[in-house]
Amino acid sequence: TEPTAYKLLSREFVKSLLMPRKKFDHKGTYGHGLLISGSYGKMGAAILASRASLRSGIGLLTTHIPRLGYQIMQTAVPEAMVSIDRSDIIFTEYPDLSQFKAVAIGPGIDKKQNSFKAMIDLLKEVKVPMVIDADAINIIGEHPELKEELPLGSIFTPHVKEFERLVGKSGDSYTRNCMQREFAKKHGLSLMLKGAYTAICCPEGTCYFNPTGNPGMATAGSGDVLTGIILSLLSQGYSSHIAAIIGAYLHGLAGDLASVDVGVEALTASDIIDYLPKAWLHLK
Ligand code: AMP
Ligand code: MG
Repeated sequence: TEPTAYKLLSREFVKSLLMPRKKFDHKGTYGHGLLISGSYGKMGAAILASRASLRSGIGLLTTHIPRLGYQIMQTAVPEAMVSIDRSDIIFTEYPDLSQFKAVAIGPGIDKKQNSFKAMIDLLKEVKVPMVIDADAINIIGEHPELKEELPLGSIFTPHVKEFERLVGKSGDSYTRNCMQREFAKKHGLSLMLKGAYTAICCPEGTCYFNPTGNPGMATAGSGDVLTGIILSLLSQGYSSHIAAIIGAYLHGLAGDLASVDVGVEALTASDIIDYLPKAWLHLK
């Protein structure tokens, strides 16, 4: 088998990947992203991912949510446009998909009803890179034929449990890493495995480990923030594996900066968002 390159992400490397903003840029320059997120009792996930996206440089954001979340979203995230699904449970009525530069699906969605059909319809329509997180990963894990429909440049962001549902059970972290690399290559996508030292495996075989982040980030909503950040980077035109790399590093850095001020016990997902400005400044 061919050798795999393993790389540890560094501040200098991540800095070198950033595209500076230019004087005459306008919001169209930074892309329009679509976030499909939220359900009854989980509108917070949509709010966290939306806010994180807007704190990471996206030009325009539309968040597609079930109808019950309309007032919640418009109140909590005034910067986001809201698209409402007729259903309160599953996503059936997307806005015109041709206007989006990237799509993210998963944070807080409800996979109870008809989710296979909703997912296959969506995957067949989307032609831009997708971030696939949370229950969207689980749906694909349960229906492996969906893997054949994934748009080019898709990024999966599972934690270990979601990883096992998607890729299969693994006894130890080395075996898991081998399976992760295989999966990324076979399906031609970027596969992140989240946790301490998040691993990002790229289709061409390279595997990056992210040193930023801390156990304070093992808290509800932390991953939703990451999904929002990566959607934002894809919408701005970063290629998939670069968006995954910058996203993981920045997310962990924001968590580290937050932990200096609030400590690891008190740290919440909202704190990670609140420290994104500082994290961006750290990369200047
Ligand atoms: P989720 O489980 O989907 O909420 O995602 C958790 C997020 O927090 C991921 O981005 C993880 O990489 C990060 N995270 C969780 N625990 C740790 C840890 N012990 N060290 C660093 N990052 C962590
Ligand atoms: Mg999650």
